[in-house]
Amino acid sequence: MFKKVLIANRGEIAVRVIRACQDLGIKTVAVYSELDSDALHVRLADEAYALGGQTAAESYLNTEAIIDIIKRSGAEAVHPGYGFFSENAEFAEAIADVGVTFIGPKPDAIRVMGDKISAREAAEKVGVHGVPGNTTFLEDPSQVIEFGEKHGWPLAIKAAFGGGGRGMKVVNSADEAADALESAQREAIAYFGRDECYVEKYLTKPRHLEIQLLCDTHGNGVYIGQRDCSAQRRHQKLIEEAPAPAISPEIAQAMGEAALKVAKGCGYANAGTVEFLYENGEFFYLEMNTRLQVEHPVTEMISGLDLVALQIKVAAGEELPFTQDDITLHGHAIEVRINAEDPAAGAFLPSPGKITKLVAPSGYGVRWDGGYESGDEVSQFYDNLTGKLVCWAQDRPTAIARTLRALREFTLEGVATTIPADIAILAHQDFQNTTHSTKWVEDTLDLSDIGDAKIVSEELLEEKPDNVRKEISVEVDGKQFNVAAWVPDLVAAKKKSAAASSQGGSGSGSVTAPMQGTVVKVLVEEGQKVAAGDTVIVLEAMKMENNIIAEKAGTVSEVAVSEGQSVSGGDSLLTIE
Ligand code: ADP
Repeated sequence: MFKKVLIANRGEIAVRVIRACQDLGIKTVAVYSELDSDALHVRLADEAYALGGQTAAESYLNTEAIIDIIKRSGAEAVHPGYGFFSENAEFAEAIADVGVTFIGPKPDAIRVMGDKISAREAAEKVGVHGVPGNTTFLEDPSQVIEFGEKHGWPLAIKAAFGGGGRGMKVVNSADEAADALESAQREAIAYFGRDECYVEKYLTKPRHLEIQLLCDTHGNGVYIGQRDCSAQRRHQKLIEEAPAPAISPEIAQAMGEAALKVAKGCGYANAGTVEFLYENGEFFYLEMNTRLQVEHPVTEMISGLDLVALQIKVAAGEELPFTQDDITLHGHAIEVRINAEDPAAGAFLPSPGKITKLVAPSGYGVRWDGGYESGDEVSQFYDNLTGKLVCWAQDRPTAIARTLRALREFTLEGVATTIPADIAILAHQDFQNTTHSTKWVEDTLDLSDIGDAKIVSEELLEEKPDNVRKEISVEVDGKQFNVAAWVPDLVAAKKKSAAASSQGGSGSGSVTAPMQGTVVKVLVEEGQKVAAGDTVIVLEAMKMENNIIAEKAGTVSEVAVSEGQSVSGGDSLLTIE
């Protein structure tokens, strides 16, 4: 077994992996960006090293810096978590080249599943079918129209290298084909650096089901139940549960076996997930994620298996300690993602900022996998998941009731969160009766009255002028050490609550930033006439582009920001007179 593991990630997943390592008696090495020097994962790890940089590209995606830290720390394995390098074959190879184990599948398997077309072909090869579609790259809208006329509308244009719900455009008729193709290609280039797109049938009321797999390097593999992740916004998951409700045992078994076939077909080892869409009693292969998923805890809760510990053991060469027949599932588990996002009116706008108070609920069957504590900052540069609330109960209705209870007990102040939307979903008949589908949150659920999600901000610390003994961390040569020092106690930071949620005010000519972010586009110049409702600025926060609109018609008298500039919530962007 490894003695020391480096966790190439941040936030809740880094914390999750650190804890699993500590349970196994393995020393942990955290890495951190400039913004994360005091993050929870750094506080919990046995050692921590600076990567430098702020954005993901400068820090957590810096292979050279991570390899350097591997050498300095003596780590024998790297756990990539999810996101960042978790599905990056080059990184896995670079790690292997310095004699260190990548806790995940072999680079070849990552590559096969790395783009949606080769992943589709790999599944077809073992007789597992996806949604009807083409595997040729689109060059012309006429190909889209041809497909639509043959298979029916709507259809989806998808970026072959897309992910995270991006790079997919739904096309309802031939008229929309050209614009949709152009927009899908543009988005694909912007986010993934390549524009290959293909077309498949778009299912209008599917559920998203997926199978958790675990394979070792000795040819053994098992599937561990199914999950339902149909409560989504922007094709991104909000709530997941296991087992998937209202699925016959026959379908569940067929899906599990199909998933395992796909994994075996690409020589898969370690934990992975095969995703399916399910509609009218039929399931269709979507893709395979060659990593640990955000929602793995619901499977852990019903199976009693620690998936992260098993990932580490399998990577160390151990054989799976059980077979398919040994796996038994108990009860029902629900995971709610708590994102720093304002769901008011269904907009789900990013809400970075300082968490002034965080008290997670507890009690029987309640688990909190968090990446932050009171006083921590949710940066605009990273994913906005603050943590996951996971509740287990003996059956689904009790699990729903318990999750609702726990959510109502949750205190998270300083940033807006998805909690009000999560409550609305869980309390809804459609969710409770499992008549929802992947577009249900956006199309059916009414979020118009879940308040303006006022962010309650409190002074974090009281003013204490005296010196106090404090454990502080110092960085020597890029490595973090804890020392005790007598320092003046920190004075509470300036109040910032209103700023984070402040808008320009209805009809106001002053256009302000609704959140902290980076200006990616200024669409107007001084002297230009604008109409009310025109998009004037595109602001990016937490990997999401937000259109900032003019609230009144007039002439732009001042543009206060330029492209690439970082702004805080409440900052003035431009003025219209
Ligand atoms: P990503 O890699 O971006 O996560 P996926 O292909 O896994 O993309 O799909 C993400 C979500 O998009 C699915 O859960 C589903 O809601 C929706 N989706 C994808 N393909 C289709 C399709 N052909 N028809 C209907 N919905 C789809």
